[in-house]
Amino acid sequence: MKELIDRLESEKILSREEFKTLFTCADEYLFERARFTAQKIYGKSIYMRGLIEFTNYCKNDCLYCGLRAGNNKADRYRLSKEQILDCCKTGHSLGFRTFVLQGGEDFYYTDDLLAEIVSEIRAGYPDCAITLSIGERGYDSYERLRKAGADRYLLRHETANDEHYASLHPAVMSPVNRKQCLYNLKELGYQIGCGFMVGSPNQTFDHLVDDLLFIKELKPHMVGIGPFIPHSDTPFRDKPSGDLNLTLNLLAILRLMQPNLLLPATTALGTLDPSGRELGVLAGANVVMPNLSPVNVRKKYLLYDNKICTGDEAAECVACMSMRIKNTGYEIVVARGDWIG
Ligand code: SAH
Repeated sequence: MKELIDRLESEKILSREEFKTLFTCADEYLFERARFTAQKIYGKSIYMRGLIEFTNYCKNDCLYCGLRAGNNKADRYRLSKEQILDCCKTGHSLGFRTFVLQGGEDFYYTDDLLAEIVSEIRAGYPDCAITLSIGERGYDSYERLRKAGADRYLLRHETANDEHYASLHPAVMSPVNRKQCLYNLKELGYQIGCGFMVGSPNQTFDHLVDDLLFIKELKPHMVGIGPFIPHSDTPFRDKPSGDLNLTLNLLAILRLMQPNLLLPATTALGTLDPSGRELGVLAGANVVMPNLSPVNVRKKYLLYDNKICTGDEAAECVACMSMRIKNTGYEIVVARGDWIG
């Protein structure tokens, strides 16, 4: 194992079979090297992003997601521009310097409305980064929002393997278009984040290697990964959750493969295991994304069952997160936390 880990660290690539061997690695040395690599670039700083879940309406019908259009049990909501700006205000006073606007694919928010929201945040908080995570849109929309002041964009590719993609999404959704969106965003100068679920139904180790190779080629600034967790009102309700150790190993592998990555320890990881996010940081993650959404809508943004942090005020989430991170020997910093290249 040690030889493989050292070679991944020095050469940043392994063969398909070697990657697969590392997926089941149980050697603490993998995490040790991942932490060392992260600290060389980012020190012991953990960046905090304020997640504003501004709409749970979605036109898509992804088989895994609780927000899917076909889930008629979901209690739908949209935040107004004023409510979103209120979240930013609270967030800024709590030390957030990145706001992530995430939602289902909801075209109630036209390019005009989104551009207006983004420019107002940009004007009100010139020291903050604005991240969008609102799914697939055309090149012109992305360009417009970039010009309005958005800095970053999160769009998980979900799986790099086309057949696997087709088993997680309705036929109208195209993996080619999703990947093209990522290339478009990158060309427009966004810091981009792709990503995938670990243990999504039908996923094999070969699919995960495909994900790593896609990431190698795309060279994103961020990669969001977390375990798949079933949602009871989706077709995947009876599927098992993703594996904790596999997720942690993938975080460490990503860190060694692309040392400069912004790598979140995700809420899904914290939902799978009470110490999941701390373990994520100890496996090389350097970002956490506490929830900044108004408390009265939190329980409605349910991508999967048992999602954590749906009852707490933003201030409580920040305090809790700071404690957790401190306990790992790291520290949350007040900073935009841009990619260091
Ligand atoms: N509509 C936006 C945001 C989607 S929600 C977009 O298309 O990018 C953010 C991420 O949550 C998704 O990309 C997906 O990877 C993850 N997610 C959705 N359902 C999930 C589930 N059941 N378990 C774990 N993660 C899930």
